[in-house]
Amino acid sequence: MRTLNPVELIVRKRDGGRLAGGEIEALIASFLAGEVLDYQLSAFLMACFFRGLDRDETSALTHAMLHSGKVLELRSVRGPKIDKHSTGGVGDKISLCLAPLVAACGVAAPMIAGRGLGHTGGTLDKLEAIPGFRVALDARAFERVVRSAGAAIVGQTAELAPADRRIYALRDVTGTVECIPLIVASILSKKLAIGADGLVLDVKVGRGAFMKDAKQARALCRELVEVGRRAGRKVVALLTDMHSPIGRTIGNALETREAIDVLKNAGPPDTRELTLALGVEMLLLAGAAKTRGAARAALEAKLANGDALARFRKMVELQGGDVRAVDDPARLPRAKVRLPVTAKRSGVVVGIDALELGLAGVELGAGRTRADQAVDPGAGIEIARGVGERVRQGEIVAHLAGTSRAKVREQVDRVQAAFEIGKHPVKRKLVLERID
Ligand code: URA
Repeated sequence: MRTLNPVELIVRKRDGGRLAGGEIEALIASFLAGEVLDYQLSAFLMACFFRGLDRDETSALTHAMLHSGKVLELRSVRGPKIDKHSTGGVGDKISLCLAPLVAACGVAAPMIAGRGLGHTGGTLDKLEAIPGFRVALDARAFERVVRSAGAAIVGQTAELAPADRRIYALRDVTGTVECIPLIVASILSKKLAIGADGLVLDVKVGRGAFMKDAKQARALCRELVEVGRRAGRKVVALLTDMHSPIGRTIGNALETREAIDVLKNAGPPDTRELTLALGVEMLLLAGAAKTRGAARAALEAKLANGDALARFRKMVELQGGDVRAVDDPARLPRAKVRLPVTAKRSGVVVGIDALELGLAGVELGAGRTRADQAVDPGAGIEIARGVGERVRQGEIVAHLAGTSRAKVREQVDRVQAAFEIGKHPVKRKLVLERID
């Protein structure tokens, strides 16, 4: 084989040329081996940012990153296995409800999740609000939990897609994160590594999302679906609204409590609705239901009869968490300080700026601005008046929770301003499009 000349590949991409699959794979392998240096790969990433990658190139990059580490097979888990990925938002606790719910319907849900960073929250931080819950399981323990509970939610380990971690670290400091082919390869290399047969994607669009623009978000959906399919997986994507937060809570223990409410067949209608919409797609991909109606009925039945909650309890137990916090969510951590936010005027809540609430949540201690920061599990925001609800001037629209009274007080005006109050009733559309 001819030795790799990274400069030749960088120059070709810089000038708008195409790279063969083998060339991309050799470039990534050489980078991981330390033969291609950080600054050379950074230059390549910038060339990709400006020139793009076509679908063949994106597939080759995904393949190279996926096979940079271990690819699990979960052979001992019988039946279909479907994962879900959300591109991240504010108040997004859906994985906590969804994984046990589909497991109760006979579809295993092995999930790799992330931590919160910036204004978006992370599933791992929410689960860790349950005392003792362990998100760092090795491959064997992960498989054991999926086999017994039907669902497990863990963090990415060093074994899975290590190329993604190295490349993401470079993208983060070279202005090359916002590039669809690079995002596709990054998401899919991690997701395909855990041995699921199919993947349902929740691509969020709006103020609180990573993608603010519907056209861009739709293009990301299409690429994720097509590249995932080329990798031999069944993939479907929902484009969902993230102008306003999901549900009534933002913050780790608060969101876990809301997820438990949904699993108890209650909870806010939008959190329940998005869980069901994604659950329907997971059951259909798995072949566990023939029609949308049948899938929805099966999911609703498992919420009503307590099976979904029992699966969650089992998953928490097997991942080391204190199940007493599931039985009695009042045991979850609570913040010491709780202050109200009132409405500036009377009318109807027509929107709640998810970005502003996410940023306020970070300031309250619920999130982080640097990957190495700890979070305060009890901190966050409880929304008292959701989108579409009427409110009178001076009535409470939210409560803020945190450890320091001064810090909580600082966020009151910001959260008050995030509530857009209009004159006419509105109905929020959660699922904007389905792409398969
Ligand atoms: N999420 C990821 O995992 N990778 C990206 O590149 C962007 C969002």
